[in-house]
Amino acid sequence: MSDVLDDTRSKTLDPDLKDLIETNDRSKKGYIFCIACEHVIGHVNDRVDIMGAHEHSMTNPYGVTHTFGCYSEAPGVDLFGEPTAADTWFPGFSWRLACCEGCGQHMGWMFERNNESFCGLIVSQIRAG
Ligand SMILES: [Zn+2]
Repeated sequence: MSDVLDDTRSKTLDPDLKDLIETNDRSKKGYIFCIACEHVIGHVNDRVDIMGAHEHSMTNPYGVTHTFGCYSEAPGVDLFGEPTAADTWFPGFSWRLACCEGCGQHMGWMFERNNESFCGLIVSQIRAG
């Protein structure tokens, strides 16, 4: 009886719990989360400089200024619409809307030129883990 209990505990409690704790710690380190729903958007290691800076403040034709950081990829976003070069902030780059996969919140834009691309994530919409 006690052998069975011990066996069960070592198989289900300890390894699982240990694994869960370690996985959570590891998986959250350096990740970027949607501030609205905590969905993982990307990773700080993917930060890139575009036109000499990681962070940019740009004003759209409606007079709204967005401050965003540039990332080589952002696997946690969904892209919407066809790429357009209209009113682009980065010469030669077309853009599409990038929204959180988890909650649909507007996170920024995917900028694309030939085989190059990067994602601009609005700093007020994300937090680093
Ligand atoms: Zn979200």
